[in-house]
Amino acid sequence: MTLRKLAEMAINHFGVQHQKNKAIEELGELIVELSREQDRRTDNERVREEIADVIVMAEQLRIIYGASAVDRWIEKKLSRLEGLILGKEDQSDRAI
Ligand SMILES: [Mg+2]
Repeated sequence: MTLRKLAEMAINHFGVQHQKNKAIEELGELIVELSREQDRRTDNERVREEIADVIVMAEQLRIIYGASAVDRWIEKKLSRLEGLILGKEDQSDRAI
């Protein structure tokens, strides 16, 4: 099953608010693992697992908040990042 389809099913099954809370939880877990990595208190596999959780939850948030609208922001962010990398944009602008 695709990420998109399963994300839609998860939202319908568990509910929007529950999945928003789950997203907060998973984002926190990734923060913890990335922080632990700096002190060598975790391993790459744990970080990868939390990245996967965050990607799954990010897809659900994308759907909850409007996939097309989020996609427009992604395009903006990627365009800005490309500009920064290629030196086509004011370096004082904030990039992701
Ligand atoms: Mg997790």
